[in-house]
Amino acid sequence: MLKIDNLHASVAGKSILKGLALEVKPGEVHAIMGPNGAGKSTLANVLSGREGYAIDDGTVSFEGGDLLAMSPEERAAAGVFLAFQYPVEIPGVNNTYFLRSALNAQRRARGETELDSMQFLKLVRETLAVLHLKDELLHRGVNEGFSGGEKKRNEIFQMAVLEPKLAILDETDSGLDIDALKAVADGVNALRGPDRAFIVITHYQRLLDYIKPDVVHVLADGRIVQSGGPELALQLEQHGYAWIKDRVAPGA
Ligand code: ADP
Ligand code: MG
Ligand code: MG
Repeated sequence: MLKIDNLHASVAGKSILKGLALEVKPGEVHAIMGPNGAGKSTLANVLSGREGYAIDDGTVSFEGGDLLAMSPEERAAAGVFLAFQYPVEIPGVNNTYFLRSALNAQRRARGETELDSMQFLKLVRETLAVLHLKDELLHRGVNEGFSGGEKKRNEIFQMAVLEPKLAILDETDSGLDIDALKAVADGVNALRGPDRAFIVITHYQRLLDYIKPDVVHVLADGRIVQSGGPELALQLEQHGYAWIKDRVAPGA
């Protein structure tokens, strides 16, 4: 589904990703951990096509197509979802209305018919049921006055409605409480399926108590320096990232 080879990317002239390689197959959940400043968010941003990032070398293919040649809108329409693409606060714009616009923009780009308000309402009801969510968030402005936990639930709800093939979650918020962590995990687990893949970026092993990843990667200094099974996350929890220095600069 996703194949990243030798990816080099920079921000404001500063080299951040330095030869990153990663392969994700349909149905898999990959966790990416790593020290602060390693380039985790940069990777998420580069994959979603956020502006301000220069690709200096390497390739990214998504379902056989050249992801880096696609606009952010084309990537979204192709099924790439980045969780923090949508959580901005938009006071006065109804959450449901906003999401329907986003979904229909993607459907138009794919040459599919748009959903009218009745069809969309049906989809929303089904999605709420799958996620065991109440409809109280729907009638408010987009993220307006949402708590951290509500924002997370809303992100997951947006993800479920948009039905991405590849969902990228960048859990940067150190203030995530246990309810918010569980909301993220429950959503990911409910949406797991043979055709959908997840990249879950997290500093916290704790999230992986609830989402059991197929593969855990350590990203350090712009590269994946170690990959393994779920036990790797536990190892990191116990030993921290100090041992990684040897891998980033061998012999140093
Ligand atoms: P992580 O998510 O792993 O903590 P980031 O991808 O956010 O790391 O950042 C990697 C490095 O890139 C950091 O050193 C950070 O300071 C730098 N960086 C990120 N965004 C910018 C930017 N817009 N301008 C300059 N430096 C940036
Ligand atoms: Mg950071
Ligand atoms: Mg980050």
